[in-house]
Amino acid sequence: MKTFKKILLQEHEMPAQWYNIRADMPGKMLPPIHPATGQPIGPADLAPLFPEELIRQEVSTERFIDIPEEVQDIYKIWRPSPLVRATRFEKLLDAPVKIYFKNESVSPAGSHKPNTAVPQAYYNYKEGIKRITTETGAGQWGSALAFATRFFNIDLNVFMVKVSFQQKPYRQFMMNTWGADVVASPSNLTEAGRKILAEDPASPGSLGIAISEAIEMALQDENTKYSLGSVLNHVLMHQTIIGEETLRQFEKTDDYPDVVIGCFGGGSNFAGISFPFLRNNLKEGKQTRLVAVEPESCPKLTRGEFHYDFGDTIGMTPLLPMFTLGHKFIPPQIHAGGLRYHGAGPIISQLLKDNLMEAHALHQNECFEAGVAFARTEGIIPAPETTHAIAQVVREARQAREEGIPKTIVFNFSGHGLVDMTAYDHFLKGELSDYSITDKQIKDSIARSSVAIVAP
Ligand SMILES: *Cc1c(COP(=O)(O)O)cnc(C)c1O
Repeated sequence: MKTFKKILLQEHEMPAQWYNIRADMPGKMLPPIHPATGQPIGPADLAPLFPEELIRQEVSTERFIDIPEEVQDIYKIWRPSPLVRATRFEKLLDAPVKIYFKNESVSPAGSHKPNTAVPQAYYNYKEGIKRITTETGAGQWGSALAFATRFFNIDLNVFMVKVSFQQKPYRQFMMNTWGADVVASPSNLTEAGRKILAEDPASPGSLGIAISEAIEMALQDENTKYSLGSVLNHVLMHQTIIGEETLRQFEKTDDYPDVVIGCFGGGSNFAGISFPFLRNNLKEGKQTRLVAVEPESCPKLTRGEFHYDFGDTIGMTPLLPMFTLGHKFIPPQIHAGGLRYHGAGPIISQLLKDNLMEAHALHQNECFEAGVAFARTEGIIPAPETTHAIAQVVREARQAREEGIPKTIVFNFSGHGLVDMTAYDHFLKGELSDYSITDKQIKDSIARSSVAIVAP
């Protein structure tokens, strides 16, 4: 019987390919659509924004895609990441469960996001791009991309939502340390920003406005491209390095997970840990449950509708088929900023529609309670986003105890919370509110966001 606290891989055991779930999806995906023509978009529509190789990956149905050696070299700064058995947390929960977590907080930026930031920076560099623009909310994506672009001497302009820029300065300082240029959005650097500022000089900004600014700046210069940290097919694929490693790590134990859990913003960390297990479900008859966990205050998977919608608030992206609350939905200000996104990636949306995964929505107080319990047993303080996965683990354990059915659980520890301690301060002082969204609010938001597709 092999029992380990920490299951490690050697450098040479790191997977050398990403997994593309599109090769194995039983349901056919709907194409992204151009809002002006109503026709499926082609690679040429995306060329001003993304390098060719990423566009190829976005539409690829090849099962495995090689990870370039230069990318593998940078991954090895923190990869392979450990798979850890949470024995002390298990003891606290006192249920017939084995709990493992894949620790993605060990990356230099503190989350899973560098897994896609590094290849995105690399492919831009290979195609001669000198500058990348992006948006960031609380700063996790911006800091991951700031870290990644440094290796390839690419300049990075980050539009950071103004209210976060003012209230959460530490990730801004991380980005500056890695050499990125960070401005509060709305800014006066773009037409979109100037327009908003003219209407409301005190605008706190939003992710939607920041996306508009980043896209506008990228479109102005042919050596500048734009980069996105979640939702899109190629982003989800880059994250599968997480699950591919986890599969190899389980081979070193006598266990195999009954349940795989990930918190859910746009879908990248959940996809990353779960898609390789879904392959085994589809091809080898395994029956692992895949569970995505979203906040009650932004419940697109559990209460959203499946239809075409914009990926951003302003409406500059192609129309994507997805579970959405409407692109104009503005979620309450919960602390898990990375989960405050109105839609789910098109691949995830299709899988949910085809009943190949499940989704649950949880309130933030329950999540922080689980996060604090985890910190007090396993020692690591989880990001507010990650606490959603941990709270679901607690629910699964409770159910196992009540039913007397043992299970093995693995969850993705998507990031640490060391730059989010204000959130814990508020929780510990009892100052956090739980926000419920009414059915009417969701209906109204979807109606407000409905998009007219103009026929050619
Ligand atoms: C950004 C972020 C998330 C949510 O994004 P996904 O694309 O759904 O993974 C979750 N956890 C952490 C720590 C993040 O930084």
